[in-house]
This record gives sequence, structure tokens and C-alpha cells, in this order.
Amino acid sequence: MDKCISCGVCVRACSQQAIYSAIDFQYRGIKTLIAPALDKGIEDSTCVFCGQCVQLCPTGALTENSVHGISRPSRSRVVKTICSYCGVGCELNIHVDELTGKIWNVTTDYDSATSMNNGRCCVKGRFGWSFVHSEDRLRKPLIKENGVFREASWDEALDLVAKKFTGLRDTSGPDSLAFFTSARCTNEENYLLQRFAREVMGTNNVDHCAHL
Ligand code: SF4
Ligand code: SF4
Ligand code: SF4
Repeated sequence: MDKCISCGVCVRACSQQAIYSAIDFQYRGIKTLIAPALDKGIEDSTCVFCGQCVQLCPTGALTENSVHGISRPSRSRVVKTICSYCGVGCELNIHVDELTGKIWNVTTDYDSATSMNNGRCCVKGRFGWSFVHSEDRLRKPLIKENGVFREASWDEALDLVAKKFTGLRDTSGPDSLAFFTSARCTNEENYLLQRFAREVMGTNNVDHCAHL
């Protein structure tokens, strides 16, 4: 916190925007610093790591891990998008390095006329984006045979799923199947899945991970 000028912006961000009041001015005079109460570590406070304070800190005393200790890209563009983690639908600004095509930061726009989150978002939207460039992402369907996964084409994978679905429906009845949809899909995709469950497979066993 060597760069901290005790401006208090982070304290106000936490108490008035994030509404967690996890940090405040502690001690007095030359010893004044920003910290959780009672000498607690940040992980033992009410902090939910939403990053509002980090984005608003004017000096870099609080900085995103993704940019800590590295130089900022010389050419960067902002892509405005909607967080797909849950149904709240926060608007996010994705910062993309134009030379590598990779994301290097995610922020929010407090002045956006199109957002409903007014610059706020949670830890997932702000910091949970490293998976985008992960080498571990699945890029092709996998079929498990004798306990081992092998790559397959989409046609082969979809044929297998269709065969298993119809086999279960025909031998054990439609209600032996259940369909679980996702907040990470669009409304239209969720709508299509429930129609598929009801009209094609004949079951009302449809649920969703976010009961919003
Ligand atoms: S916003 Fe940054 S500079 Fe201001 S008090 Fe908080 S940590 Fe210090
Ligand atoms: S990350 Fe969020 S909850 Fe934690 S101190 Fe900053 S504003 Fe408060
Ligand atoms: S930032 Fe958090 S609250 Fe907002 S849409 Fe994403 S997951 Fe939901």
C-alpha cells in the first residue's frame, strides 16, 4: 500500500456501491491506513472481492492481479458486453490487447446509459475470465470408452446422445430423463431446451441452475 494517499475512494466504493463496508480508515495520524476492522485480514472481513475499490483507486495502490507488475498493452480496445455467468446480466467492458487478441482486464462503466448494473458487478464478472484463453478448454466433443476419453466429431457425439436419449425414453419412460439448463445460455436457448424436453422427449423434468 505504498502508493496509498488515503483519499478514501475505496472506502466509499465499498460502503456506498458494493454495500459491504469491509474496509475503512484504521488508526490515526501518520499511522492511518485503509484496512478491515480489528486488524483482520481481508479474507476474514466482509469483503466479497468484487473489485469496486480496485477499479476506482486512483493511484494503483489497489491493482488487478492481471495487470500487476506488467506493462499495459500499447494498443488496446474496449468491447462492451454482457456477463454470461448469471441472469443478472451485468454490462462489462472487456479490454483486449490488439496485438495478441487476448483479454488483459475487465472493468465496468459507471456512466453507461445502457447498463443496469451502474458500474457494479461481482467477483465472477470482473475477475473470472482467465478461462477464455485456457489451454484446458474443450474444443472438440469427447466420448468416453472403456474409461478413457477420445475425441469425436460433432455428428458422432450428437448421434450417440440422441441414441441414448431415445433408448432411455423407450425402455424406462420419458420421466426417466431430466433436463437441466444454464444461466450461461441465452433466453432463447433455454426456451428451446424446455420445448425439446416437453415436446420431443415428453417430460416436464426441466430445471435451471439460477432460480431467478
Ligand atoms: S482508493 Fe487507493 S489511494 Fe485512495 S485510500 Fe483507497 S487504496 Fe488508498
Ligand atoms: S473488493 Fe468489494 S467488498 Fe471487498 S473491499 Fe473492495 S469494494 Fe469492498
Ligand atoms: S457480474 Fe456477477 S452478478 Fe453480474 S451478471 Fe456476472 S455473475 Fe451475475
